Amino acid sequence: NRQFRLKQRPVGRVGRADFDLVESPVPEPAEGQAVIRTLYLSLDPTNRVWMTDMPQYLPPVAIGEVMRGGGVGRVVASRRPDLKEGDLVTGLLGWQDYAVAGAPGELFPPTVIPDGLPIPIPSLMGACGMTGLTAYFGLTEIGTPKPGETVVVSAAAGAVGSVVGQIAKIRGCRVVGIAGGAAKCAFITEELGFDAAVDYKAADWKEQLKAATPDGIDVNFENVGGEIMETVVGRMNLYSRMPLCGMISTYNDVQRPRYDLTPFLMKRIRLQGFIVLDFKDRYAEGSIQLAQWLLAGRLKARETVVEGLEGAPEALNMLFDGGNIGKLLVKL
Ligand code: NDP
Repeated sequence: NRQFRLKQRPVGRVGRADFDLVESPVPEPAEGQAVIRTLYLSLDPTNRVWMTDMPQYLPPVAIGEVMRGGGVGRVVASRRPDLKEGDLVTGLLGWQDYAVAGAPGELFPPTVIPDGLPIPIPSLMGACGMTGLTAYFGLTEIGTPKPGETVVVSAAAGAVGSVVGQIAKIRGCRVVGIAGGAAKCAFITEELGFDAAVDYKAADWKEQLKAATPDGIDVNFENVGGEIMETVVGRMNLYSRMPLCGMISTYNDVQRPRYDLTPFLMKRIRLQGFIVLDFKDRYAEGSIQLAQWLLAGRLKARETVVEGLEGAPEALNMLFDGGNIGKLLVKL
């Protein structure tokens, strides 16, 4: 059983040297435990936050602890009634080949995914999984978009952003995505049906944003923070809404950013941070809706899959370099 254990808190980009790769025998389940073989590991921007000791929504990963990470796997041995051998499960399996469910310190028990769904596992982890649920609840419950309104989403070709834009289209909105580079901009407009794309790597991106939002912005689904967020806020309308989902542009920084809140006052913008876990009692409802849209062809799922556990630390940097389109996964 190979495990990545956090060796030190990374400064800036994550490196292989921030982890120890430790090998041990495949674990045996004790009474009340089950052993799960990981099939896919989810790489998420929040993994980088968990490596820090800044105040956050879960305890930071301790030095020496197996790196926390979401995943999907199959139960290979079980001595607990809720999981049986062969079950497909999702949970915080960690950066390792085998996870023990019911081990001390477990934050959440893994949950069984119905087997044999006509949806491939990678899409169950992305558009119909945690990032899809983040998009769904953040947009519909906090963004509360109405038909005809303008919705802007940043990191628009990524796992969360690509689903946000597609749901906003289903809700009858004008949708503008902000993404890095021509290929991602073409992906969101041509393949996903966004009304416009803004390439923030182009010198004239602020003019592009202005041209794409002639009636201002009613909902800003914020994934990035920094200058992109401040520029978007500058175009938001009176009584507009801003679900604050993430601030990926700042996660590698040691210094926390400072922002001017005056526009929120002057334009009475409703800003609300949220974590998908806030909606955990409604995951079933959200996943069913996302799966129905996917099967009806109204929602497109896209994933970038990297092979091999050993590449996980370097692969995480793809999220910060924009190397992924859609959900980033590691296949074990
Ligand atoms: P993505 O699949 O969107 O990958 C991250 C993308 O962010 C990259 O592909 C890159 O795209 C873009 N990006 C990276 N650095 C910058 C930068 N400095 N400026 C602008 N864009 C940048 O990841 P996720 O969909 O998993 O996550 C998106 C956001 O949502 C993150 O902030 C994450 O923390 C947050 N999140 C929050 C959750 C919650 O419960 N609140 C749950 C899940 C995610 P590009 O090539 O366009 O630059």
